Amino acid sequence: MNKFSKSTNRVLTRRGVLWLGQTCNFKCQFCYFLDRIKTKDHPEHPFMSLAKAKQICDTLVNYYHNNAIDIQGGEPTIYPQIHELITHCRQTGLLPTLITNGLVLANQKSCKKLKDAGIRDLLISVHGLGDDFDTLVGVRGAHKKQMQALENLITVGIPFRFNCVLSKVSLKKLSAIAQLAIDKGAGVVNFIAFNPFEDQQKQGRRSALNVPLYKEVAPFLMEAMEILHKAEVECNVRYFPLCMVKEKYRKSLYNFQQLSYDIHEWDYASWSWTGMQSQRMRDGEISRTISLKEATVEPPTYPGPLQFMAIKAREKLAGYPTLLNAAVSINRTIGKTMANTGKQNTTDMAEESLYRENARIRAQRHCCYVYAERCDQCSVKSICDGFHGDYASLFGSEEASPIILPETINDPKYYISHQLKVVEEEDYGWAK
Ligand code: SF4
Repeated sequence: MNKFSKSTNRVLTRRGVLWLGQTCNFKCQFCYFLDRIKTKDHPEHPFMSLAKAKQICDTLVNYYHNNAIDIQGGEPTIYPQIHELITHCRQTGLLPTLITNGLVLANQKSCKKLKDAGIRDLLISVHGLGDDFDTLVGVRGAHKKQMQALENLITVGIPFRFNCVLSKVSLKKLSAIAQLAIDKGAGVVNFIAFNPFEDQQKQGRRSALNVPLYKEVAPFLMEAMEILHKAEVECNVRYFPLCMVKEKYRKSLYNFQQLSYDIHEWDYASWSWTGMQSQRMRDGEISRTISLKEATVEPPTYPGPLQFMAIKAREKLAGYPTLLNAAVSINRTIGKTMANTGKQNTTDMAEESLYRENARIRAQRHCCYVYAERCDQCSVKSICDGFHGDYASLFGSEEASPIILPETINDPKYYISHQLKVVEEEDYGWAK
């Protein structure tokens, strides 16, 4: 029996993200920031100052009312002031997670220092095993060190989750990675499919040589998912068309419209702001905050004026974190109660509608997702992103296989509301 407390309640995430600078001790072939990692004079390469990082974190709390944060570098464990930053996050209301490759954590003292600083948990990049892993990340001995890091984290008592990119070379190891997660007590495993952001969008970087077809991935993926399901370990698959897995596994598929309902994923509102270059560079001031409404250009379905007044009222409370958190809690409690009675709070509905529009923009405008002609027959088309534009340009979209249901589905939570997801104790009040 898995030890984590779980829930099927789906609420909008309150987790922010911070990029400290693209400085790393790995050179992963599929890294979204590969050019920035390799190019020392790229403006996003060097780590930012602690003062700037703290200022960004404070904005996440005070303006975006986030209550957790994923801190990444590059590699955050080599950021010189990482312990001060973790402690600052803890003290100001952001529960800190590091997204890390774990290399530094092969030294147990480093784990202990993270624990003492107030780390909440780690998201460890387990993109493969053995020599395959070393080749993928460009560092000999990396796998061995990562395995030592897991042992150290268990000894020191820092919880961890896994991220695993679905690259061609790792497919045959997915089941072994799932078993590793079970054996070592990982709380969650995320599998991440082809979705080239940032530097990976460069022409020629992805090809049929390193990107597997969805139908190549699917059997290995479902085998690994089955192992995790049986062991009751939460498993999520990001950016994978819904029709590519059997129905029983679709509750674990998170495309853009579902991502906001995973409390371990990033809030589109604050992500839209921290993703701007001013917030990812060492030099220069942070830029003005932007609301999700501003980040969601030309939303086709726009929440009504009353609903926006409610959102604005929440934004006004941003200068008063205690009041704001109380308001968010009350609102979510009302929402939960109404959901139990089959109704939904209008503020929640307006907010969810805006997040959904932003999700569509991320898929359609930013990543150029496309639908195959036969997607028009599919009952879940409106909650599926379709095929990534870059993937479709490499392989076409002939793999699409319409899902035929008695009714048309328009609720992005249709499948995921059946999934049991980990909720940490600190989040019981609003997320369980
Ligand atoms: S919309 Fe297209 S890609 Fe998505 S599940 Fe349906 S057939 Fe598959």
